[in-house]
Amino acid sequence: MPGQFSSSDRPALLGGKAVCDFPWPVWPVHDQTEESQLLEVLRSGQWWYGEKVRRFEREFAAFQGAAYGVTCTNGTTAIEMGLRALGIVAGDEVIVPPYTFIATATAAVTIGAVPVFADIDPETLCLDPDDATRKISSRSRAIIPVHVAGRIADMARINELAEAHNLTVLEDAAHAWGSQYDGRGAGTLGRCGTFSFQVSKNITAGEGGILITDDKDLADLCRSFSHCGRTEGSEWYDHYNLGSNLRITEFQAAILLAQLARLEEQVARRQLSAALLDETLSNIPAIRQLAPAPGMARRSYHMYIFRLNQTELGISRGRFLEALHAEGVPASEGWYRPLYRNGVFADAHIGPPHGIRSPLAGMGVDYRDVSCPVCEEVCSDAVWIPHNVLLADEPQILRLAEAIRKVVANAPALRQST
Ligand SMILES: *Cc1c(COP(=O)(O)O)cnc(C)c1O
Repeated sequence: MPGQFSSSDRPALLGGKAVCDFPWPVWPVHDQTEESQLLEVLRSGQWWYGEKVRRFEREFAAFQGAAYGVTCTNGTTAIEMGLRALGIVAGDEVIVPPYTFIATATAAVTIGAVPVFADIDPETLCLDPDDATRKISSRSRAIIPVHVAGRIADMARINELAEAHNLTVLEDAAHAWGSQYDGRGAGTLGRCGTFSFQVSKNITAGEGGILITDDKDLADLCRSFSHCGRTEGSEWYDHYNLGSNLRITEFQAAILLAQLARLEEQVARRQLSAALLDETLSNIPAIRQLAPAPGMARRSYHMYIFRLNQTELGISRGRFLEALHAEGVPASEGWYRPLYRNGVFADAHIGPPHGIRSPLAGMGVDYRDVSCPVCEEVCSDAVWIPHNVLLADEPQILRLAEAIRKVVANAPALRQST
């Protein structure tokens, strides 16, 4: 129980007793509901893109507060489909942050557009509207804010600059199922928003994605792109648009419906855990907490992030995490590194012979010149606690905080023993 461990106890890494000597909640969460819904689909023989898919689209769109939802194979194809439906074409520039999953940027490349990286805000880790403004050129057509870890980007300012420069806004909301800003759901704050249901996400069917919007024409176009170019009411073999097959199955929809029924409660649970961590980690000088998110009464946490002041702490993030793992806390440095450092961009593995003939190849875009200093700093000092951990109960979250305090308090001993 909390308080049972004094921070001066010997770190588990140096032979002491681990603070978190219990298992964390396992992800994905599933129960009888998934089982019976899956069996129902199996036995019905209706496996293909039917009533359950449509029901999930309606229910998820309504959960986020949007009029329409169009499912697709994953969060990556959702962005590609959305950009195409928004009229983004080869050679257009799309402003994206570099602190996100690779798909935010590569989706633009896949449709022939050019991602232009703008830095993030050090307090929110989301796109910095000031740097985004600096990155606007005569070729800019779209902007993709990412709601990192479930925190909504500064959409007021992003929409403002989008309007001023005639850009269209697609929200990559792949961490923001359930997040709301001033009562409005993530994905409804720009022209459209995209979500992922891949297995690491807070609601999952193994794979899956959706685009939501209030714009019926945009939704219809996305439906067509995802459904082999068919249009509403068209003959089966009448393919009006250039589409692909991005459909999901009734099996996936059955699982997603069961997961969706649990989402609100899980969002609340993680939010309580995050609030508890905000409070219990608030007066540790080596821990730099992110700014609070006013206006976000409901906020999903794909992960809980804080930043480490390694100079203040006296040990590296690597050593800190090593000690934290020994205490039983599965924290990590996060998966992200500045996207422009990945081979696909830095080594220009985009044009032939790498597969996609992109205008990038001929435009003299050299991503080795790109620098987003805030993103680079965050990549070197962020600590992530994954969302399954945030589903733990209050005493366990208090122990987690205790483990962090213990490692911080023992930093001198941990330094000497390296
Ligand atoms: C997961 C993720 C995606 C891509 O989703 P997939 O379903 O894995 O294709 C896009 N953007 C962000 C921010 C993500 O976390």
